[in-house]
This record gives sequence, structure tokens and C-alpha cells, in this order.
Amino acid sequence: MITVRAARVPFIVAASVAIGTVFGQYAQAQGQAPDHPSVTVRGQTYTPRSILARNMGSDEDQTTAFPPHKIIGNIYYVGTRTLTSFLIVTPQGNILINSTYERNVPVIQHSVEQLGFKFSDTKILLGNHAHGDHQEGDALVKQLTGAQVVVMSEDVPALQAIKPGGKEHPIDRTIHDGETVKLGDTVLTAHLTPGHTRGCTTWTMKAREGGRTYDVMFGCSLRAGNRVTPENAEEFRRAFDVVRALPCDVQLGDHGAQFGMQAKFARIAGGGANPYIDPAGCKVEMEISEAMVRAILAEQQKAGTP
Ligand SMILES: [Zn+2]
Repeated sequence: MITVRAARVPFIVAASVAIGTVFGQYAQAQGQAPDHPSVTVRGQTYTPRSILARNMGSDEDQTTAFPPHKIIGNIYYVGTRTLTSFLIVTPQGNILINSTYERNVPVIQHSVEQLGFKFSDTKILLGNHAHGDHQEGDALVKQLTGAQVVVMSEDVPALQAIKPGGKEHPIDRTIHDGETVKLGDTVLTAHLTPGHTRGCTTWTMKAREGGRTYDVMFGCSLRAGNRVTPENAEEFRRAFDVVRALPCDVQLGDHGAQFGMQAKFARIAGGGANPYIDPAGCKVEMEISEAMVRAILAEQQKAGTP
């Protein structure tokens, strides 16, 4: 018995040290925020750090390709295990959403090619929001494909600050809330859903499959930082109202965990109905984010720092 226990202890210690290191990095990214408040939505409890950990995974998860696959209609997954990229295929060329980190661009290119498409057919590059894990690779994608880079005006300053290797962030077209991007038979509408960044953009489009048309929502992160200013709270309030009102059959996002990608992908192999068609689950991420913003505001109010 003693031998068994002695053997177990170092393993447990090693495991908790490893987890502690990972959470330590997240805490650093969060400005060493304490890990509260916690909120419970649909029976599941979340904290700021658990949401971040779920979104990012390990360094390896952020840079390792997730099996590229068809999501619905002309929409394909070409991102990593935790950082999403989507390819929308049209007869006039393709649209890529989210270049992610610059070092992931060859990973995305490989996934596009594995699906039988050409990376050089990428005509338009979009993004969900101006953070490096989603849009750092924009300059390299532009360099490799010549794609037109379309950005939300409120995110322009933050995007201009993302300069991997000193490269200027490409911006070919600046759009505003409600404007559309068209290629072939696909029309994407940009919805300003600020809070996480000033120009956080939720993209929507229609996808056709099996003779039916579905509303697809490429959600932007609605995750709050460790402090929510009154101005930021107002941005989030607007974002939650917009997302709540959007028609949605298929919810996607800038991290796979926001829409249960791994579980849905696993269900594809079983055949049957497309697991990505999930209108009932479309707004869960918004509910979690809204509960968290409210809880953070309540804590701040209690502490006298509105
Ligand atoms: Zn972000």
C-alpha cells in the first residue's frame, strides 16, 4: 500500500504543477486576475479562467490542425484544435475567416488543400476580432493569396497594432455594422458585437443543404476581461442584444469550445442529421458570457469600483 501511495504522489504533484503552470500563463494573460466570479449556465459552472482554458487549450492545441471537414453547405473547417478558421467555397473563389497566428497559416493552407481546394483561390479574408490568436496571420495570407482583407472599422486601430515581424497589417476594405461582403452566391453580413474588442464582428450567412436553407452565425468572442468599465458594459449590452436577436440554426465561433466543435465533429462519423444544425444550442455561449459580465459588474459594484 505504502509503495503504491508513494508512487502516486509524484504523479499527482507533477500533474498539478503542469496544470498550475498552464493556468498561471492564463492568469498572466488575464493580468493576474483572481479566478472569480463563477457562473452556472444550463447546469455547467464557469469561471474566467476555465473559459479561457477551454477556449485556448494547450500551445499544441492552438497550432495543431483539427481534421478539416465540411460543416454545412459550402462552409468547411480548416483551423486548429482550438483556434477556428473557416473556408467558404464559391464558384468565384473562396472566403477565409480567421488567419489565426501567423505560424498557423501553413497549417490552414494544408487543411484547405487536404479538402481539395486551392489556397490561392482565397479571394477575401475576414476575421472575428483584432487579437493575435485570430488575425495575426492576415499579412501572410494576403502575401500568399492576394486576398482582399476586409475589416470592421472599430477594430482598425487594434489590427494596425498587430505587426508580426514588423509587417504592416493589410486592410483593403473597411466596413461598418450591417454591411455585407459578397462573393459568388454567398453574402456575409457583418454585425458589430463589441465588448471583447471594439470591433468584434459576428458574421452571418445562409447555407444550403439537402434542399433547405440554414442561418449560420460565425460568433465573435463575448468574453469579458478582468474589469468591465461602464463603457465596456454598454458595448457588451449591445452585443448581447444583437446576438440574442440573430436568426441561427448553426452557431460557429472563434474558438471551437464556444460551439462544442469536438463533440459535434465526433457525431458526424455516426451519420444521421448534421450535428452542426443546432438551433437550441445557438445562444448558450452568449448566455454564459452575459452571466459572466453581470457577475463581474456585481462584484465591482460590491467592491465600490463600478
Ligand atoms: Zn480575443
